[in-house]
Amino acid sequence: MSIGVDPADPPSAVSVSSDDLPADAVEPCATTAAVSGITPEPVMFSERDRRFMALAQAAAEEARAAGEVPVGAVLVHGDEVIAKGFNHPIGGHDPSAHAEMAALRAASQKLENYRLPGCELYVTLEPCLMCAGAIMHARIARVVFGARDPKTGACGSVVDAFANPQLNHHTTVTGGVLEEECGAALRSFFADRRRAAREARAALKNDPGATDALQDSHPIN
Ligand SMILES: [Zn+2]
Repeated sequence: MSIGVDPADPPSAVSVSSDDLPADAVEPCATTAAVSGITPEPVMFSERDRRFMALAQAAAEEARAAGEVPVGAVLVHGDEVIAKGFNHPIGGHDPSAHAEMAALRAASQKLENYRLPGCELYVTLEPCLMCAGAIMHARIARVVFGARDPKTGACGSVVDAFANPQLNHHTTVTGGVLEEECGAALRSFFADRRRAAREARAALKNDPGATDALQDSHPIN
């Protein structure tokens, strides 16, 4: 496959991490309307969007298996998955190792091009500012995300980087695809982590020498 080359513009990257996302950071959507007593209109997404988001969810489970916050991404051109990535800042000792960054890097290496025009990025959690910046530099045509991130989301939750025409006029954004499922994966991860922390504290209380258990329960801190 041929992707246009523009050799004039160097790539760049910035950094933020979702690895300390609080337990309550990802809530199901439609809360505003539900609280006000108005039944939210169901949003219909295409079978194609749901299918690629499901692949991003599978990538997120690879992050979970590695002890990382479960966020996954796939990069798509047409109907071809070019690359996938999962969140791994802890294991990678890399604050920029978000799922989107991993997928962008893998796709760029594969295509030998730092620009990825015409490609779509599917990610289970709303991109942060770092990833939004990288997405813009890569000239990604469309971003599709699952759960919203009210703490660091840069597609409307905290800031809307893609809405600023001075910053970007290449990327369209679709949010909320498989939102509940994507959010549930994150909530279960943090619930498990809180449970492990409680158990470790209880073990320490019963056996003050059991500091290893407490340390093991805080893989991110
Ligand atoms: Zn990010």
